[in-house]
Amino acid sequence: MSDTLLSRFLRYVQIDTQSNEASATFPSTPGQRVLLEMLKNELIDLGAADVEMTRHGYVLASIPANTRRRNAPTIAFFAHVDTAPDCSGKDVKPRVHRQYDGKPIRFPDNSRLVLDSSGSPELACAIGKDVVTASGKTLLGSDDKSGVAVIMTLAERLLREKQLRHGLVRICFTPDEEIGRGIDKLDVKTIGAEAAYTLDGGSPGEISWETFSADAAEVTIEGVTTHPMEARAKGMVNAAYLAGKLLAALPRERCAPETTGGREGFIHPTWIEGRVERAVVKFILRDFELEGLAEKRAMLQGLCAGLQATEPRARIRCKIRKQYRNMAYWLRKDMRPVELARAAFASAGFSPCEQVVRGGTDGSRLTEKGLPTPNLFCGEHNAHGPLEWVAVQDMESAVIACAKLAELWEHQ
Ligand SMILES: [Zn+2]
Repeated sequence: MSDTLLSRFLRYVQIDTQSNEASATFPSTPGQRVLLEMLKNELIDLGAADVEMTRHGYVLASIPANTRRRNAPTIAFFAHVDTAPDCSGKDVKPRVHRQYDGKPIRFPDNSRLVLDSSGSPELACAIGKDVVTASGKTLLGSDDKSGVAVIMTLAERLLREKQLRHGLVRICFTPDEEIGRGIDKLDVKTIGAEAAYTLDGGSPGEISWETFSADAAEVTIEGVTTHPMEARAKGMVNAAYLAGKLLAALPRERCAPETTGGREGFIHPTWIEGRVERAVVKFILRDFELEGLAEKRAMLQGLCAGLQATEPRARIRCKIRKQYRNMAYWLRKDMRPVELARAAFASAGFSPCEQVVRGGTDGSRLTEKGLPTPNLFCGEHNAHGPLEWVAVQDMESAVIACAKLAELWEHQ
């Protein structure tokens, strides 16, 4: 199986599917459609049922049930085809380090880069495995083409191995996860599943079912512009300066991503543009609890009101919008999707490892829309940069664990 899985993975990472936040199309870039089209055709060749690509590029398919149990629940597996805008995904040259020997890995296209266990302690667990990296000038795209290759291999296995009993299994490949639009154009009802899993995680055994709750804010400051020569006389109000004051007033030492960890939330300025006349600052607000998120909204609004009070001639507006919510709010009401994943991992020989995600997943929004969707491991490490790597055997472990999971759901 190893080479089938590996050759799939190598084929997928060589297609440039970087998503682009500035694009107004869906998917945001044409390369994603190329891979989605390829996956659709491969699913047809494998003999999957109901294979379709929606108008917006989502690829859906079914692995028909092979159980006699009438009420076996339908489950679904999701992976995203896009790669992060942070690092180039063009002309990826994957390199396979067979039976990795534990030594530092160097890169032909960037002599300054080194991948070793000091920066990536999980590499110690990859000794003897087949490790795949990029060549130094691009990311690898293991996030999330590992998940895609795992699901394709799982589909093949469920279709071929008749002794493996399962209910209806749905498959969904999505675009634009990295720019937060992955679920925007998906009608969750078309999945028709009771529970789903995204395959978009790290080391074997990893299950994530708690994510941040997230809002975004945009603060607009309108100043008063004059010629600098008569600024005092005419009452210049410099919006750029007020934006700086707003940032300086944030409690960065206890409320920024770079100063917090674990279950702490933050307010994070992600973008700023300003001149005398007008300044705009964009923020993301994050917390695991809704109360904590509400406090952060109130803090930012309070700082804006305070700034407005010190400078009544300016006009300061703070617009806040909802992004996604912690999937744990829903999962805690019915933990079966998590419990069965734990059981499947344990019976496949991996000790389950659960960490809160200081971010969101497509599963956050799917769960909120009524499809409970924890995230499972597929071997990704060092995502979004040139040091990204994956071990082929870890992807194989994910296939085994997911096949087990499909069997456990059949008994429900
Ligand atoms: Zn991902």
